[in-house]
Amino acid sequence: MKTSFFQLTTLSQSSLQDYVDCVRRFKLRYLDRLSYPAIETEPTLENEKHQQEGEYFHRLVQQYLIGIPAEHIARLANTSNLQKWWNNFQSFSQTSLVNLSNCLPEATLSAPLGNYRLLAKYDLIAVQDGKATIYDWKTYRKRPRNEWLAARMQTRVYRALLVNAGMHLNNGKPFEPEQIEMIYWFADFPEEPARFPYTAAHFKRDWDLLVKLSDEIASATAYPLTDDRQKCAFCTYRSYCERGVRAGDMEQAETEMETEELFDINFEQIGEIAF
Ligand code: SF4
Repeated sequence: MKTSFFQLTTLSQSSLQDYVDCVRRFKLRYLDRLSYPAIETEPTLENEKHQQEGEYFHRLVQQYLIGIPAEHIARLANTSNLQKWWNNFQSFSQTSLVNLSNCLPEATLSAPLGNYRLLAKYDLIAVQDGKATIYDWKTYRKRPRNEWLAARMQTRVYRALLVNAGMHLNNGKPFEPEQIEMIYWFADFPEEPARFPYTAAHFKRDWDLLVKLSDEIASATAYPLTDDRQKCAFCTYRSYCERGVRAGDMEQAETEMETEELFDINFEQIGEIAF
């Protein structure tokens, strides 16, 4: 295995999820920075459109949360999906996001983790009455199981990092884990949010795991291909790894929810929307 040219300095829920799913994918994506734009899912155009709408929806919500009037934003929700998601979000926000004393859309937090900095960008952190709620908007076409979400690195990283890096949001005192809850809100399933409260025991389990993973990453010398070939069907590197050329079926992927990273939003890649 050749030595990587790039020096990795930060870890995120995405890179850690890749590491957990397949260490080879982690190496190709984050150490080698290998661009290998294979189609990840079929049918391609439909999935690309859905992903673009998901990105646009995140931007609309962010603009709303920083104070752009809802009627201006409604005019930009110009596809049937966007209209439906926006209407659902309006109903949700009028009942669940009112009178928040401290509302931070797209907050970025970071903290040291072993040799790295752990970094996370949140859709929204809302603080009220000493409680911090992490919101994450999802535009999945299927509602994933709570057990699957609970095990995701995103759920573990976002809550643990808020404990370790959120003291400026709590009058200079770290949040107790019991003050924190994470809510995934699904634009297509607005009445079925997934809620994940937190406890000191969860926090210890999560942070211990993050430290262990960062130590492993820092000392890794071998990056074998995953034994779970199902992961390869939706992986951009599958032909590079000689694990097949045909893209996996999107419907199957969402049913199994094996490919969240395909739909998670990278805000650095989203252009500003002009109002
Ligand atoms: S194709 Fe399979 S083995 Fe190769 S990086 Fe992707 S998941 Fe890992």
